Amino acid sequence: MGSGKVTEGQGLSWEGKHVTVAGLGVSGIPAAKVLHGLGALVTVVNDGDDERSRAQAADLEALGITVRLGDGATLPEGTELIVTTPGWQPDKPLFTAARAAGVPIWGDVELAWRLRGPDAAPWLAVTGTNGKTTTVQMLASILKAGGLRTAAVGNIGVSVLDAVLGDEEYDVLAVELSSYQLHWAPSVRAHSAAVLNLAPDHLDWHGSMEAYAADKGRIYEGNRVACVYNVADKATEDLVREADVEEGCRAIGFTLGSPGPSQLGVVDGILVDRAFVEDRQRNAQELAEVSDVNPPAPHNIANALAAAALARAFGVPAKAVRDGLRAFTPDAHRIAHVADVDGVAYIDDSKATNTHAAEASLAAYESIVWIAGGLAKGATFDELVAKSAKRLRGVVLIGADRALIREALARHAPEVPVVDLARTDTGAMLAAVQEAQRLAAAGDTVLLAPACASMDMFANYNKRGDAFAQAVRELGA
Ligand code: ADP
Repeated sequence: MGSGKVTEGQGLSWEGKHVTVAGLGVSGIPAAKVLHGLGALVTVVNDGDDERSRAQAADLEALGITVRLGDGATLPEGTELIVTTPGWQPDKPLFTAARAAGVPIWGDVELAWRLRGPDAAPWLAVTGTNGKTTTVQMLASILKAGGLRTAAVGNIGVSVLDAVLGDEEYDVLAVELSSYQLHWAPSVRAHSAAVLNLAPDHLDWHGSMEAYAADKGRIYEGNRVACVYNVADKATEDLVREADVEEGCRAIGFTLGSPGPSQLGVVDGILVDRAFVEDRQRNAQELAEVSDVNPPAPHNIANALAAAALARAFGVPAKAVRDGLRAFTPDAHRIAHVADVDGVAYIDDSKATNTHAAEASLAAYESIVWIAGGLAKGATFDELVAKSAKRLRGVVLIGADRALIREALARHAPEVPVVDLARTDTGAMLAAVQEAQRLAAAGDTVLLAPACASMDMFANYNKRGDAFAQAVRELGA
């Protein structure tokens, strides 16, 4: 991280200010260093006191930063500001004490926002239950194709803090924001923002669906040019309606159907813009073909439309949308085509870690042998199974909470053959793929879209996807 731009941070004086950083880790450590560099008196508090945190603490202490391990609950005396790791839950005693003492609480994104210089690049922001990473990457690709200096930042690659404080100059940033980050970022004001979709997720953290939606909705607050919503997901449109935006800011919908005025949509295999054109009652601008979207699954076309809407709100020409989409390649484990074996396609969508994502993925194929299961995180599977039943040729279940899916299958798809592997060891993936091969016929798709988290069997979704790909390669060998 460069330090050239870290001087005063929008007029705030940091010298001697007592700042408590809540949580070591990916956002806590850089935040502590930046604040220390600004002259603040920084104390980092952390719940854990293991070997790793002790090593991290030693590095920070060497710089003159105070670190308190094994106690993330007590508010250090004299604290004037807390900068928290986004994942820390709002009802933690540390925050209760801070609120009682009138101490403001910022997340890493709020800190970044406050430290931006007066001429900093505007933000085009994206949130949603699923599709955030893909959409900001598509957006960055489109903006680059339009000749703009930009980066996809947030939970991916470059952190928002690094992007704001680094030496690289940007014209605009494509910013992915999680619901946690939005919760702790009350004053962020994007140029334009999109909420892609809204389905129950992380409810234990937010407390309720209403609180989760309200945090997502913050992304629209103070938007200047466009609030982009999903026509097929009314909850996203409701959030636009409730948002307090700048005068003249427009609500722009995206739809997989034919677009109305002030919408982007699809007509005869073409992505079209009826929002950022002259005389939108009568005119539409062709942006790209559906086949320019990689992969052209319905939910991914929706992501492309949302990215296009934000780029067009920023004034990018139509051609850049097409060029940017063509140049985009998705990250690994997101509907990645691994191989065809005996006429059966094997697709890795290990990143489908919740039911909403798995539903989108299952909707993209006609005849599927579905590999599912893992940690359900409190989800129920009835709706997912009922909606997808007609596409299922067979199901192979793995992981800790597979019984929940098996029961939903018994209720809504009793005729579909199910193999319950009753295994949670890592080697179970090879067995799962072999079972799936047995159930599949030429023309089918074997789809890993677990609808569950991976941590019962694997270190993360990447490892789960890698195990799947390895197993598929063994089939073909
Ligand atoms: P996020 O950053 O929100 O987790 P990703 O772009 O990494 O989103 O995609 C995660 C998974 O969500 C994908 O693997 C796919 O299964 C699913 N997904 C992607 N886009 C959408 C969408 N627009 N609607 C529903 N599911 C989606």
